[in-house]
Formats: sequence, structure tokens, C-alpha cells
Amino acid sequence: MSNSILVTGGAGQVGKELQQIFPEATYISSNEYDLTSETSVQDLFTFSNFDTIIHLAAKVGGIIDNINNPADYYLDNILMNTLMVNYAVKYNVRRFIGVLSTCIYPDNVESYPMAEHMLHQGPPTPTNFSYGVSKRSMAVHIDAVNKQYNKEYCYVTPCNLYGIYDKFDERSHFVAALIKKIYEAKKASSDKITLFGTGRPLRQFMNARDLAIILKRMVKEDITESFNIAATNNLSIDTIAKIALTACDCDHMHIEYDSSKPDGQYRKDVSTKKLHSIFPDISFTDLGQGIKEVYNKLDL
Ligand code: NAP
Repeated sequence: MSNSILVTGGAGQVGKELQQIFPEATYISSNEYDLTSETSVQDLFTFSNFDTIIHLAAKVGGIIDNINNPADYYLDNILMNTLMVNYAVKYNVRRFIGVLSTCIYPDNVESYPMAEHMLHQGPPTPTNFSYGVSKRSMAVHIDAVNKQYNKEYCYVTPCNLYGIYDKFDERSHFVAALIKKIYEAKKASSDKITLFGTGRPLRQFMNARDLAIILKRMVKEDITESFNIAATNNLSIDTIAKIALTACDCDHMHIEYDSSKPDGQYRKDVSTKKLHSIFPDISFTDLGQGIKEVYNKLDL
């Protein structure tokens, strides 16, 4: 590979967004390199010379899949993150950007929004505990190699994502599942959608394209700080569902809640003070407009 910017997880939703705006990077997927395998990671580094790595690859899924397969979430993520950081150090990669997630923050803290220094101030929520611990470990590993090997590696912690390349299967996150439910209800001429839980939890959602734009800027502007990334909204599930119904021209539908299903963490909003100090001009896609774009894509 001649290109010196490597993006792992290139076939995922953030990877696909990044490919659109940052074609000069090299993108790899699990088909080419299984990053849970040391042999495969070694091959990747042996035959290439990377200046910068954006490490997107992860086992990512919704709440039910996390509850049902906690060992898989732990093992896959701890292996690929540990191998990627370790090999970056071994092969003297200059810049490394790890990607975490706000769902790895403590389940409960005394005050919100959560700032970067609060990451280890309590255990992650039980519904994605093993995923949370495995992703947190990458932050610990990166901070440790910076200290021990005098590196300037960093990690970003984005809020929940949605976008046109989202998954619409059993692994989907809330917004993708919501859009699919609206789409299917409309097709079946139904006037209701049923959502998990109570509708009360609060969430920050961001379009995956907005995250891709920030990651590209980090490389171009040589940003080496670790920080949270979120749109400032922190809306209840019920409010997000109503925004989505309006965006999909389905205001007539009513929302039913299945409270036998888990709500997940009540809130996990993070502070974006540091983000805005690094990129004062940053802006985010309007949630309704972003949902409409995804819905229109499904409705082809
Ligand atoms: P995604 O669509 O699931 O993409 C993840 C990618 O990782 C996939 O392309 C997958 O490849 C790859 N991958 C999984 N296991 C692998 C393995 N063993 N070896 C090599 N590659 C492997 O996830 P995303 O939404 O783009 O997320 C990108 C990053 O953002 C992740 O680190 C995630 O934790 C973080 N994040 C996501 C969200 C969210 O709501 N989605 C929120 C906050 C943070 P295949 O497709 O080939 O299996």
C-alpha cells in the first residue's frame, strides 16, 4: 500500500462516509484483514508503512445484541483495539486516532453533561458493560503508550450515530430501527409504531457524516487531542420519535411503548466544550433533515 493514511472499518457506516470525503486514505474491511487475528494485523503492518491510522473497526450493535452476546463484544473489541494500538507503536506510526463511544461512560454520575475526565468515574451501563469496558481499555492503552513511548495518539468519543449507511437489521441502533419501523408501518398502511422501553431516556444523536468530517479535519489539521463529539441536542426517545414521524410525513401515526423491553442507560450526554474549543466553526446536520434523507434512501 502506498497510501500512508489507513482507515480500519472502511466498510462500516462511518468508513463509507469517510470514503466519500477523504478518498486519498486507504480503507480496509474485515474481508481483507481480520483485526482480531494477530497474524492478520502483522501482515497489515509488515507490508505497509502508515503515517496515520484512523481506527474505526469495532464490533458494534444495538442493545439486544449486546445483552445476548456480551462475550463476543468484549473479545472482538479488546483484541482488535489492543492489536491495533500495539502494532502502531511497534511500527512507529506517527498518528493514531481511536474511536470510542459515549455509551462507555459511567452509567451514573453526579452531574451532566459528562466531560472527558469523567470516563473512569464509574462502571458502564449493565446493558453494554462488556463493550464499554473493552472500548475504555483502548483509552487506557492509548494514554499509557503516550506516557511510556512519548507518542501523541488520541481518541474521540462520539455520541450515538445514524446515517444513510446504517444497519437496518437486528444489530441496528435506535434511529435506524425507528426509521425502519416508520417505513414498514407506512407500507402496511398502519397508523402506529411500537418502540422499546418507556420513551423517557435521553440521547444525543449525530449524523455519521458529521463524524467523518471531524475525523478528516483531525488528520488535515494534525489534531492530537482526545475529546467528545456530539451534537448539542439531548432529546428524549419520545421527542426523537416525533421528530422522525414529522420528517417522514407520518405525523398521523401514534407511538406505543413496549415497557417489557429495556430502556438502556437513562442518559449519557457528554460535554462538547473541548470539541468547540478545537473546532469553533463546527456545525451538525439537523436531526429531522438527516432522518428524512435516510428515510428517502430506504424508500427507493
Ligand atoms: P459499523 O458500521 O458496524 O462498522 C464497523 C466496521 O468494523 C465494519 O465495517 C466491520 O467490518 C469492521 N469490523 C468488525 N469486526 C472486524 C474485525 N474482526 N476485523 C476487521 N474489521 C472488523 O460501525 P460504525 O457505526 O461505522 O462505527 C465506527 C466506529 O464508531 C466504531 O468504533 C464504533 O464503536 C464507533 N461508534 C459508533 C456509534 C454508532 O452509533 N454506530 C456510536 C459511537 C461510536 P465488516 O463490515 O466487514 O464486518
